Amino acid sequence: MTTYLDELNESQRAAVLYNEGPSLVIAGAGSGKTRVLTYKIAYLLDNGFEPWSILALTFTNKAAREMKERIARQVGMERARYLWMGTFHSIFARILRTEAEILGFTSNFTIYDASDSKNLLKGIIKEMNLDDKVYKPGMIQSRISNAKNQLVLPQAYATNGEFFLADQAAKIPLMRDIYLRYWERCKQSDAMDFDDLLVYTYLLFQQHPEVCEKYAGRFNYILVDEYQDTNYAQHAIVQQLTQINRRVCVVGDDAQSIYSFRGAKIDNILKFTQLYKDARLFKLEQNYRSTQTIVNAANSLIEKNSEQIRKEVYSKKEKGDPIEVFSAYSDVEEGEIVANQIVRLHTRDGYPYNECAVLYRTNAQSRIFEEALRKRNLPYRIFGGLSFYQRKEIKDVVAYFRLAVNPNDEEAFKRVLNYPARGIGDTTLNKILTAATAAKVSLWKVLNEPLAYGLTINKGTHTKLQGFRELIAGFVEAVPLKDAYELGSEILRKSGIVNDLYQDRSPENLSRQENIEELINGIHDFCMTRQEEGNTHVLLTDYLSEISLLTDQDSDKEADVPKVTLMTIHSAKGLEFKNVFVVGLEENLFPSAMSFNSYKELEEERRLFYVAITRAEDHCYLSFAKSRFKYGKMEFSNPSRFLKDIDARYLNVPQEERISRRVDEGATRFRREIGDGLTSTATVKRSYERKEKDDNWGADMFDGGEIPQEPRPFVKPAPPRKLRPIPSATPSAAGTGTAVSSHGVSEGQTIEHERFGIGEVIKLEGTGDNCKATVRFRNAGEKHLLLKFARFKVI
Ligand code: ATP
Ligand code: MG
Repeated sequence: MTTYLDELNESQRAAVLYNEGPSLVIAGAGSGKTRVLTYKIAYLLDNGFEPWSILALTFTNKAAREMKERIARQVGMERARYLWMGTFHSIFARILRTEAEILGFTSNFTIYDASDSKNLLKGIIKEMNLDDKVYKPGMIQSRISNAKNQLVLPQAYATNGEFFLADQAAKIPLMRDIYLRYWERCKQSDAMDFDDLLVYTYLLFQQHPEVCEKYAGRFNYILVDEYQDTNYAQHAIVQQLTQINRRVCVVGDDAQSIYSFRGAKIDNILKFTQLYKDARLFKLEQNYRSTQTIVNAANSLIEKNSEQIRKEVYSKKEKGDPIEVFSAYSDVEEGEIVANQIVRLHTRDGYPYNECAVLYRTNAQSRIFEEALRKRNLPYRIFGGLSFYQRKEIKDVVAYFRLAVNPNDEEAFKRVLNYPARGIGDTTLNKILTAATAAKVSLWKVLNEPLAYGLTINKGTHTKLQGFRELIAGFVEAVPLKDAYELGSEILRKSGIVNDLYQDRSPENLSRQENIEELINGIHDFCMTRQEEGNTHVLLTDYLSEISLLTDQDSDKEADVPKVTLMTIHSAKGLEFKNVFVVGLEENLFPSAMSFNSYKELEEERRLFYVAITRAEDHCYLSFAKSRFKYGKMEFSNPSRFLKDIDARYLNVPQEERISRRVDEGATRFRREIGDGLTSTATVKRSYERKEKDDNWGADMFDGGEIPQEPRPFVKPAPPRKLRPIPSATPSAAGTGTAVSSHGVSEGQTIEHERFGIGEVIKLEGTGDNCKATVRFRNAGEKHLLLKFARFKVI
């Protein structure tokens, strides 16, 4: 028997060995679903399946690469190389490039990214003279995307009662016309957006049964990871492709479904068993990733969701430390606390930095953590946000590349027609646009035959346009003749971009130059790698197809030094880290304010939190800030309701939060005791609080209460895992105080500051209103405070 099968438990092995028909693996986080898929592929290869007959669809291209490397270790790279593995989008783009002509596209079609689509929509809304405050481009974009993910095309959309009513209700009756125009314009530009890659694949197979048979016959086995996040279109394509062999294995966890905003449906899991009635269901119950505490905490959280497939998940790893809850005064302090804890994990417990991850709800939260880490010189890498390829200077260059490969690309055309400046203004562009829209052709076509399309321009403009046309035509001709690196460099020079960038020596411009250099080095690397793989001729076309579908996780380059990972929870799906910090656990942020409309959305947020916690192997930390800068102003926030969803046994909560938790729980009890069903919760809480105050506990939480004598730790330090003595950072100076300010503070005293938290007064200078204190805060470092204005209390 092959050795790798011994690395599986009994249920996992059963799932790997069953290959007679459709199968479904439903199991909680960390139970080895991805491992089952990986080992199954190795097993299939060992049992007569050809690599090119296996199609594996993963959540990111990086996941596919890792899976392939893993398999290669078992069966050798020579065979693993020919496996079809990647995201739905990248695999379908590959099939579409081969079959494009039947659909009326060329094999060089452009893939529009989200910002290209939005720009095109903005243009269309403007052309139709619609108010973009009513017809908001972002909103229109997501409605179109939603329709496409349900495979509703413009014609069907126009006659669909449900969409009609929804658009009427939203007061955007012309939505369907925008959709149609958008659809046509993409086609005229020989371009597909992300959703089109699914839609056109579906259409290809539906309208051309012979093509469908070709692929359905080729793929002897189809495997899908993270099946809970597939949308209807993806589900339908899998169905098309499995109609001949019916060998399909999907794995997923309904509790981790977090993409319903992109049209993913939990129902797909349920539908799968209806569609494949003979599907075998496998359940995995042992979690191999996390400590018992983390698994139990995650279970206690997800139980609060009403919609879920019940399942057991347990861990046999050590019990582990409780999950630490950190409370911060401000977002800045939250950054400091996390950074300090990372330092501790590194220096005290010996974790390399890449075993720490900070996960947040929104990209906007990353900046604070970046700053905190940078301040301490901690290496980090950040995923998402404005990715390299989204930067303006990179998009400009790539637009030239896109035009060279596909001159009909409208978005690229508009972007560079007058960049670098060549005196062709908006008026001219608008004339070209109008002519192209009227004749339903691309802008490039109009540029080539301006008279035929009735373009009225003066001689000077005509000459400039012809200059641009010749420039692009030259690039188009060179595409099949030159390699990507050579042509890329030539385009940079001939387009005038190099001149434009290198004239200006301002610091911002220097960083732009560096980015362009990085881009061109990237193309060079790409060519070299492809050549090493045996491709003699690496074209710009190849490079463009490679970069157009990179996801957040794919932007991860092999890190030279271990780095802390910063990313959104959405992009952390499927990953694992020894230490995970889930930050910003505040009402209106996580759960997001947008999720309060329905319990369904709230449950999705809770699943997202479940995904976050279950990324952790050894330690999990949860934090929230009591105030945060949002949209340029300071806002106060309350701890997330999700914190209360986790069974308290698994948490280490700061004192004050414990009290608030008790108030909540107590209020419920109290309501029962007083038999009250009518009074509002807030009122009950208040009376409960009063009662509690009388009972004299938790007094410090409520105004006027006494301050406890024992200084309590602001953040309870984690019990050390590997015990190593740490030098005490704050030697007690109590009693040694000499200077005493008029504000009643003396050196050596501990204070609690509203923003910076707990700190020790190490020096006092000046008197009266000018009295200044130097305070060493536990989490915010050393600060100088003018006592007259400082908001603190002595503890
Ligand atoms: P997620 O739901 O987060 O995607 P998953 O179910 O796909 O998780 P895996 O990532 O496959 O889980 O496995 C989680 C961890 O447990 C991995 O580090 C994996 O190598 C390890 N693991 C899985 N099964 C076993 C096993 N039988 N023996 C040892 N380690 C295992
Ligand atoms: Mg997985």
